[in-house]
Order: sequence, then structure tokens, then C-alpha cells
Amino acid sequence: MSDYNWCHNPDCHKIQTQSRIRGSGDNKVLRTVKIKQGRYGSYQANIWDFFCNQNCLMQFLCKFGREIANTYSVKQPSETPIKVKTEKYDNYRYRWTENGGSERVPFTSTRKIIENKS
Ligand SMILES: [Zn+2]
Repeated sequence: MSDYNWCHNPDCHKIQTQSRIRGSGDNKVLRTVKIKQGRYGSYQANIWDFFCNQNCLMQFLCKFGREIANTYSVKQPSETPIKVKTEKYDNYRYRWTENGGSERVPFTSTRKIIENKS
């Protein structure tokens, strides 16, 4: 297995950056970027093993989004079972006073806490 991939954006070689220039004399070209696998370690899975940067990833997705959606189609929503706990907590807001100042007005808020169902 090779330690390198070529950027998978089919238009990577059309983007004009100095880093893509290869060749000598009058035979210069813009070349697809070569990517060292695992260059960011295990951070953000391995998507950056296949695309040299976010621009190339987005160009790829815009070009092949329909095919990707057809290949990995979603025909119905998925659901994750959860427990919801409602909790009251102390909150406050500021109210303007007649003398141009402000005063802190406490009130009770509620929030929902989502927990994984075990
Ligand atoms: Zn690229």
C-alpha cells in the first residue's frame, strides 16, 4: 500500500497555486496535489487522506453530491433513543431603570438535558 494519495478533486490540477507547479523550462504544469496519508494523525478521521484541502473537498462534493446521495441514499429518517430530563435553573436578565441604570432581575428558566438511553 502506498503512503500517498493524489487529491481526489478532479479539478485539483486546475487551481493556480505555486505549490502545484511542476516541470522545467517551457514544460511547466499544474499538477494534482500529492497527499501523505495520516498527515493529521487520527484527527478528523481520514478525509484529509483524500483531499488536499477544504476547497478541493467542497469542489468534489459539489460535482459528485448527486452520485454520493444516490449511492448512500437515505429514504427515511433515523432515530436515536434518548432520555430527556427537564431541569429548572436560576437565570437573570437586565431591565432598564428610570434613572438610566439597569437592574438585575432573576427568573427561573427550564432546559432539556438529552441523555443516551442505555
Ligand atoms: Zn486538491
